[in-house]
Amino acid sequence: MELRTGNGYDVHLLADGLPFFLGGIRIEHTKGCVAHSDGDTLIHALCDALLGALALGDIGKHFPDTSDEFKGIDSKILLKRSYSLVKQEGYRLVNADCTILLQKPKIAPHINSMRSILSDILEVTPDRISVKATTTEGAGFIGREEAIAVYATVLVEKK
Ligand code: MG
Repeated sequence: MELRTGNGYDVHLLADGLPFFLGGIRIEHTKGCVAHSDGDTLIHALCDALLGALALGDIGKHFPDTSDEFKGIDSKILLKRSYSLVKQEGYRLVNADCTILLQKPKIAPHINSMRSILSDILEVTPDRISVKATTTEGAGFIGREEAIAVYATVLVEKK
């Protein structure tokens, strides 16, 4: 069995009055991500982890934020495309583990919806997709609600 692992990290600034997309869903909140795409930080970290597992570069290389094609794009499309590249290399996802760093709002009520949507796109059962969230206890730019950050790790295996 040939296994490869990848990691991804993404940060977006938060601003008042923007829609807040995370893990493929829209969450009601007073702030949203400043971004060229829909700003789905979790999906961006996941894309980078998938691309990283096969040494295919990063999300900025495949979906440049200078391109009009990706302006306001639903990040689920980027995830689908990133996973296509993984499959083209002859690999499939074994599991993914994501950690969201965010002060507000509470993410727990939304985690199962995110796992369901992400697992559909990645063609696995939801038990293979982990989404966790933590605050930074008020510390730093996350704690001041200036930004959100997400870490993602994936394992892929050769089909
Ligand atoms: Mg991003």
